[in-house]
Formats: sequence, structure tokens, C-alpha cells
Amino acid sequence: MNRFSYARAKSVADAVRLHHVTPDAQFLAGGTNLVDLMRENVMRPKAIIDISRLPLREIEATESGGLRIGALATNSALAWDARVTERYPLLAQALLAGASAQIRNAATVGGNLLQRTRCLYFYDPATCCNKRAPGSGCAALDGVNRMHAILGASEHCIATHPSDMCVALEALDATLTVAGRRGMRTLPFDGLHRLPGRTPHRETTLAGEELITAVELPREGYARNFAYVKLRDRQSYAFALVSVAVGLRVENGAIAALGCALGGVAHKPWRDREAESLLIGRAVDDTRAVERYADAVLAPADPREGNAFKVELARRAIVRAFELARAPHCADAANVTAHDSGEPA
Ligand code: SF4
Repeated sequence: MNRFSYARAKSVADAVRLHHVTPDAQFLAGGTNLVDLMRENVMRPKAIIDISRLPLREIEATESGGLRIGALATNSALAWDARVTERYPLLAQALLAGASAQIRNAATVGGNLLQRTRCLYFYDPATCCNKRAPGSGCAALDGVNRMHAILGASEHCIATHPSDMCVALEALDATLTVAGRRGMRTLPFDGLHRLPGRTPHRETTLAGEELITAVELPREGYARNFAYVKLRDRQSYAFALVSVAVGLRVENGAIAALGCALGGVAHKPWRDREAESLLIGRAVDDTRAVERYADAVLAPADPREGNAFKVELARRAIVRAFELARAPHCADAANVTAHDSGEPA
């Protein structure tokens, strides 16, 4: 049995301090990923710092017209918050596409940001995995890699990031508030997750003791033209083979601004801002322009034998997401009901 110490943080500063003075500690919030990993002997922290009772659950408007989401807000609370469903329906749609109702009730926003890959080999301590045991190799390279990355991978790791919420946050240009030993700092969402490179065990840019306290959404929520398309092996409780989050601001029939991110294809939510510039000023129904954008995004794809199908799947998913986003108030979002999602009405 893995023995560990347990401490409950009294404040954010106390959590940061406890982590700093405790070697090999992990923060515990909803526990929906960490506890599983500990049960499976994939993670063996020496200490658990319980942050679940810190006052970080508030969802509140910001002075700049955006929304500030406490890191301990649950995925359910966020998905069904009226300000989110009305102003950031892309985020609500992505949240409801993830996990199950029971898990969303327990899982926190901060935990969702930091959840670990679902690579089968990562979860199997009998196999080699550079992410779980640095330097041991990567069983997925020549193994079953159907779910793995086609963009941004390395010869050390081809795992994907599993979150749906993060794909929407990337498209929405979210920012994070992070507490550390020197106080608070702001981090663009795009700067949180790392590509695997030679150190796939280092998944974020956070220092060990740093704690994400909030996610902030800007004023622009793409509430009128948006879509979250998630392609998976079964309709619920499955991770994405490919997902696409897209939000458009349409003015006079043309794309005036957009955010588009892909999930299930890389070690982090994948966004190509340079390719997005190809679409600015284009007619919103210019499918050829969207196809050129998709080709540009996927040009660097370097799939393995088992996941080569993802390149064409991603291309089609991008085109489909833009088709859905064209229509004001995307039909799919309108069809997400409490009944469909298992949430109380
Ligand atoms: Fe481990 Fe990454 Fe290889 Fe999966 S893809 S076995 S997580 S190193």
C-alpha cells in the first residue's frame, strides 16, 4: 500500500506553503482523476493537500465584462450557470460533452485543467511509459495508438490531452489566475499546457507549488455563432477521437473574429492562430476557405499507423463545426437538454 500524509489547507496561501514545504505533494479537489490514479498505483504522492474547502467556487462577472470562475466550481455548476449558457454556450456544450453527470458533479474546473492523459499505457504500470516513469520508453509508439496524437507529439510521448472543457477555453481565449510563493500571476490559457518534447512527465508550465485559483473568460463569448463537435467511439462517457470548438463573430455575412481549437489530437488543446487569419473577412458560408484553413491546421500532422484516420476525421470535423456555427444559436446547443445530459431539470 502507498502511504501518504494528509493535510487540509486553510487558505490559498496555506495551500501554496504546504506544497512548497512538502516534497512530492499533490493538491486534492474533486479527486475524480487523482484518486483513480492512486488506486491504480500510477501516481504515488507522499502527501495530499486537500484544497476542496477553500472559498474558490464563486462564478462572478468581471469589471471588463467577462466572467471569473473559481477553480473549485464544479463542472456541473459551470455548465448550468445561466451566465455561461447564455453568454458562453460553447463552454457549456463542451462541458456537457465530457464524462458523466456524476463525475461532472464532483469534478472541479481546476482539476479538469490538470487532468492526466487517458493513454492506456500510462494507466498500466506493467508497461513502459515516459510520462509515468521518465526514461522508461513509450509503449504507445508501436502499440495500440488509435487514440493518440497527430500534432505536436515527440518520439518520447504521443499522448493526447483528454479534456473537452479545455478545448473550449482555448477557443475562448481564457486566462488563468495562479497563486504562488511570490503572490498571484495571470497566465494566458495557451501558456498552461506543454507539448511533450523530451519531458512528457512535465505537463504544464506551473511551478510545483503553484495553484490555479480562477479561470477568466473575456467579454467575447461567441454566443451567437458557435459549435462544439466531438467525435468518439460511443455517444457518452467516452474521450474524443477528435473534437473541435469554434466560435465566430459574424458581421455583414463575413467572419470578423474567431477562435477555433481542436481536442483529441495533441498533448494540449491545439490552436493555430496563423491559420485562423486565413478566415478573417471571408464569407461565413465559404466552405472552400474553411477547407483551406483545415488543411493549414493539419499540414504538420504526423500520425502513426493506428491513428492515421484522425487526419481526415479532424478535417471533416472542422468543416462540420463551421457549418454548425454558421447558423445563429447552433442547433446542437439548443438540443442539449437536462434530460440528455442526466442533469436535474
Ligand atoms: Fe506514456 Fe505518453 Fe507513451 Fe502513453 S504516449 S505510453 S503516456 S509516454
